[in-house]
Amino acid sequence: MPEPAFKIPSQFTFSQSSLQDYADCPRRFQLRFLDRLLYPAAESEPALENERHQQEGQHFHRLAQQYLLGIPAEKLARLANTPNLQRWWENFVHATDLSGLKDLSGLYPELTLSAPLGDYRLIAKYDLIAITGDEKLVIYDWKTYRKRPRDEWLSARWQTRVYRALLVAAGSLLISGRPIVPERCEMVYWFANHPGEPARFPYNESQYKRDWDALVKLTEEIRTASSYPLTDDRQMCSYCTYRSYCDRGIQAGNLDAIEAEMEAESLFDVNFEQIGEIEF
Ligand code: SF4
Repeated sequence: MPEPAFKIPSQFTFSQSSLQDYADCPRRFQLRFLDRLLYPAAESEPALENERHQQEGQHFHRLAQQYLLGIPAEKLARLANTPNLQRWWENFVHATDLSGLKDLSGLYPELTLSAPLGDYRLIAKYDLIAITGDEKLVIYDWKTYRKRPRDEWLSARWQTRVYRALLVAAGSLLISGRPIVPERCEMVYWFANHPGEPARFPYNESQYKRDWDALVKLTEEIRTASSYPLTDDRQMCSYCTYRSYCDRGIQAGNLDAIEAEMEAESLFDVNFEQIGEIEF
């Protein structure tokens, strides 16, 4: 049996983004999470516009956090100071799907959960976990994608699978230490540009077992991999920052021209490592 290409340290922590990178392109996983190379190139054109969109996405997440921690909406509205932010903020505070949230006592914005996964750990940073009066646990994730992705695409993402599975595995402290029943969990993606079309993903015991088995299998595959090959899907390279390392072109892809736009937009997903404190 060939030697593993890389000895992954025992304290290594897997996340939905590292697993998704491996699934999309094993070389990207290697460059980003093992070699820890900084992003060397613009992911997509027009670079400035996409960078601004990403910064606005981070800012929106901060506003949502602060709102859920009890800062008055009127005060936060003043900080929504671009047309995109103003629209997202208006959509957020008026969304009928979210209107009950403020009345719930069990709101856990920006929560991190982790659990052992084989020799490693699995971690997830949640935008919000809400516990309803009848002890249903709802995971909310805010997305500022331009387009509303298909449910099938979202369902297959590692984020959808990791977030629900890890809540079941590690979230029992949220309900006073009682075991979490997968059927009592749901994940909701809420789209700031499409506030009336959230995507809902309920859960059940067999999905949980399937997801956890797949997580164990995938991390074992990553641990024993004898190489981390480049993806065959060259379209994915056109908006990947590592193009120069892989000799996969110089010119960044244009988001509007990329058919698999959601794959590109997902590279701009906001996570809490990127989010700083908000200033008033
Ligand atoms: S440029 Fe292509 S092959 Fe290289 S890491 Fe990115 S997606 Fe993978």
